[in-house]
Amino acid sequence: YRGLILALGASGCLGGLVLVVADGDSIPAHAFTSEDPAASAKKKLVVLGTGWGGMSFLKELDSRLYDVKIVSPRNYFVFTPLLPSVTNGTVEARSIAEPVRRMISSKGKHIEFYESECIDIDPVNKRLLCRDASHIRTKDHEEFTVDYDYLVVAVGAMANTFGTEGVQEYCHFLKELEDAERIRENVVDCFETACLPHLSDAERKRMLSFVIVGGGPTGVEFAAELYDLVSEDLVKLYPTLRELVTVTVIQSGDHILNSFDQRISAFAEEKFRRDGVSVKTNCRVLKVNQKDVEVKEKTTGKLDNVPFGLAVWSTGIGTRPVLRKFMEKVGQTDRRVLATDEWLRVKGCKDVWAIGDCATTEQRKLLDDIAYLFEKADVDHSGTLNVEEFQTVMEEARGRYPQIDLYLQRQHLQHVADLAKISMYDEKKKEKQLSIEEFKKALSEVDKQMKLYPATAQVAAQQGAYLAKCFNGLLDVDHKPEGPVRIRKEGRHRFQPFRYRHMGQFAPLGTEQCGAELPGDWVSVGRSTQWLWYSVYASKQVSWRTRALVLFDWTKRLFFGRDSSRM
Ligand code: FAD
Repeated sequence: YRGLILALGASGCLGGLVLVVADGDSIPAHAFTSEDPAASAKKKLVVLGTGWGGMSFLKELDSRLYDVKIVSPRNYFVFTPLLPSVTNGTVEARSIAEPVRRMISSKGKHIEFYESECIDIDPVNKRLLCRDASHIRTKDHEEFTVDYDYLVVAVGAMANTFGTEGVQEYCHFLKELEDAERIRENVVDCFETACLPHLSDAERKRMLSFVIVGGGPTGVEFAAELYDLVSEDLVKLYPTLRELVTVTVIQSGDHILNSFDQRISAFAEEKFRRDGVSVKTNCRVLKVNQKDVEVKEKTTGKLDNVPFGLAVWSTGIGTRPVLRKFMEKVGQTDRRVLATDEWLRVKGCKDVWAIGDCATTEQRKLLDDIAYLFEKADVDHSGTLNVEEFQTVMEEARGRYPQIDLYLQRQHLQHVADLAKISMYDEKKKEKQLSIEEFKKALSEVDKQMKLYPATAQVAAQQGAYLAKCFNGLLDVDHKPEGPVRIRKEGRHRFQPFRYRHMGQFAPLGTEQCGAELPGDWVSVGRSTQWLWYSVYASKQVSWRTRALVLFDWTKRLFFGRDSSRM
């Protein structure tokens, strides 16, 4: 193999996508290829999804060893860290999309691709029910089945509304390329509509009010991109509207970017304050109406309505329907994402692996449960966490994962408890209620220490690469049941468990400013960091084609500004 390391970046994260480019003839003969099993004798390996997890897996996989098929409704890969840049036209949508077939063929892989959505997984008969995802569907051929021996689930996640009324109907999400393009169109549309003569002043102001729900990396980056678009380009084209534009970020925690180092979070808040981007922290959205968002201030209980012309919902991830059904079948109904062991094998069934946003290892499970608990407490609008409920989760987690109990509880959750100044284990000291904010703060501290950043491209890509290496060695181990010398000891697993390596993360903040957390707890903010961001993201593109297109888009923007046509 010729290894080509193309790490991955982030509004988000600098990361470790390792794409191994198979170089035709130079691939060394694998132990099995001498036997050259007939195609029919090869195990059927099916991969669901063409995102970070799926494509990183396929890049690293020795496709000659299996009969490989990919099922995904998207026939392209998207470089998601640049999605926010598509919303304001800094980068064109097609510049960050790479066709899956091109990725496969350029690496000389023998893989079949079905542009379809998997709608049901039958783990007993090892069969998938799929539906043609093309826009022109013929009724007779709409659904078909695909058999597998091994299944890798990498279907990612969808936006999570936490059941908040009106979100689906009136908010935009920012998950897919189409979402980004729709937002881009709608922003310009808001400006055009605001120019119409029949609008009242209040209506005009509402049209130019942009609301972002969620102060995480994606929400903040989108707000920053929007601010740049308005202040650098649209004000020149719509000079009379300048004073009417507002950008508001609504965040349920007490800071934006609270998964980042405090210095970056503080820098971002200060920058937004200077730019006039309003940040409403400690606010929960109760309901979204057609023209406004109903918000409750958590500390004072004050209710407020924030009118909007365009609202973007960017808070956490939810489960895809196909996975919900599958989770019922494998006894994981209490979960939001698939539980896997440390070798990424799905619990409760055989020969199924899960990677990326749709999965979580046991180690992360406990923190996920806790995160869910306070989200729930939040949704109940209580503003505080119910300690009894919390104890129940803890008990359950202890029962299910004794090794986690030792690993996490003692080292980290006790630390959370210390930070939150309550004891979760001492009945006598137990207080009735724990402040949710105090707890969140403590938990984010722990998160940082453990570098357990869930749902990032960085994690998905590393998992994909790890799993492919296991698959490349799987048959080898099967041929030698006693295992290689170093792992012959009875009871030991054949492969090393997956270990995540956190490579740092970026937070672009607009007007050529950026925050970055880099390995070694190095924090950097400002203009030079933005240049680092440019170079990292350019180098991390998955092909020379997208790299050239992204560089071209950035240069074009520098000379001609962003394109505000509404197509
Ligand atoms: P995805 O990349 O979402 O891929 C899922 C794939 O499954 C897709 O191809 C989809 O079409 C397919 N699929 C869906 N349903 C089905 C089905 N039923 N059957 C078959 N296939 C299906 N992370 C970072 O590390 N750094 C960043 O800067 C960063 N920025 C981000 C910015 C935005 C706007 C967003 C939305 C995310 C960002 N992330 C970032 C997170 C990162 O994109 C995700 O963590 C990553 O995409 C997860 O990879 P995945 O393979 O699990 O899922």
